[in-house]
Amino acid sequence: MFALSDSEFEEAKNSLRELLLIDTSNPPGDERPAAELIARWLREEGLNPELVGADPERPNLVCRLAADPTNRSARPLVLSSHLDVVPADASRWTHPPFGGVEADGCLWGRGAIDMKGFAIMALSALLSAKRHGFRLNRDLIFAAVADEEAGATLGSQWLVENRPDLLGGEPEYVINEVGGFTLHRPGKRFYPVQVAEKGIAWLRLSVGGTPGHSSLPDPDNALATLANAIARIANAKLPWHVTDPARAFIGGMARESGTLAKLLTPALLNTISGPYLLPLGISETSRRRSVEAILRNTANPTRIHRGGTKINVIPGHASVDIDGRLVPGQTADDLIAELSTVLGDPGGERFQFEILQTSEAAVFPSETPLFEAIRDLIHQRDPEGMVVPSMIPGFTDSKNYARLGATCYGFYPLQLPKDLDFAAMFHGDDERIPLDGFRWGVDTLTELIRGFACR
Ligand SMILES: [Zn+2]
Repeated sequence: MFALSDSEFEEAKNSLRELLLIDTSNPPGDERPAAELIARWLREEGLNPELVGADPERPNLVCRLAADPTNRSARPLVLSSHLDVVPADASRWTHPPFGGVEADGCLWGRGAIDMKGFAIMALSALLSAKRHGFRLNRDLIFAAVADEEAGATLGSQWLVENRPDLLGGEPEYVINEVGGFTLHRPGKRFYPVQVAEKGIAWLRLSVGGTPGHSSLPDPDNALATLANAIARIANAKLPWHVTDPARAFIGGMARESGTLAKLLTPALLNTISGPYLLPLGISETSRRRSVEAILRNTANPTRIHRGGTKINVIPGHASVDIDGRLVPGQTADDLIAELSTVLGDPGGERFQFEILQTSEAAVFPSETPLFEAIRDLIHQRDPEGMVVPSMIPGFTDSKNYARLGATCYGFYPLQLPKDLDFAAMFHGDDERIPLDGFRWGVDTLTELIRGFACR
């Protein structure tokens, strides 16, 4: 089993600290200093990183460690992270979000988890492969991209559309967020490996009314109609869609979680009984919401786009933007049909929907040699830990890498203590990475490469 020496771990830890000192809050992003810092470290090892992108201040870093041609027998494996982070409100943090503070066994900072920690984990694995002369059977590609937190247009999307050659053209696998961490359940430890993520359907909902002077009563006020529609959509319980990845994730956890869970799961994964059973079966709100989000499309009104412009004129038109998320197999039109039903307007006569942006869910197979290798490795690293294929309600760079035909897994190995609210680390206050778990993760990822990419 691979294990970093103490000095190698100090190096990895200090690299992460240096990266956390650089504010890459997106917007605006400004990932260049972070990308340049990593590029410098790679050059010092004799590697040849490239910084590419549409915006010079927001480049993507890509670096290849090539397999010896005489031993190359498989398509590349990409280790991908993003260098931008979401903004942090320093007044709410225990330690400064860009201070690189080490305290209570953790490194604190915006990006420690999401996802500079993995950038350094992947960098460390790549450097170990080079320094220890791993006999790679495929090229190993390190990518640290920009702009993931604002939709990935300048980041993985740009790379896939403009420089797929840097990603090996048609990489076989991409390892990315969100998975590989310890998920504690009573008496059990799971390691979800993300194999699916929901799609998006960003919509604009518009409604017309009768414009007029607002000194007179008017029953047909577009703003009032829209407000009503917003409330209905926000409170809607859209139909249940039980998909294969949802069944594998929820069923996989339930199988290992005792008799009651095992008995209840078929009814939960049933389109008729599921919606009624969920509130009874899962009392904890955050867990219930995340289970719900993988079993139905969701739609959250997020931005009032247009209403009236004058205080004394009843507007003839009003609109709102809606962040819709799609389960696998569903399209933006399917969601619009569901929402039109919620609005009591199945024919779309009263309310108009416009599709602003959409992409379908990404689903990857879990019957692959890499998934097997991950399962075996976790079993060795934590014999009581159970690997389950998982699905997330959000999206990652994987949705873009999928376009290259790559199988993408969220596998960011982190052994976590029971008392850390890991979900709250993503975009939350006091983001921090436990250093023991980080070290375990670096060793695990490096061992995965030594075992899987060197056969
Ligand atoms: Zn992220």
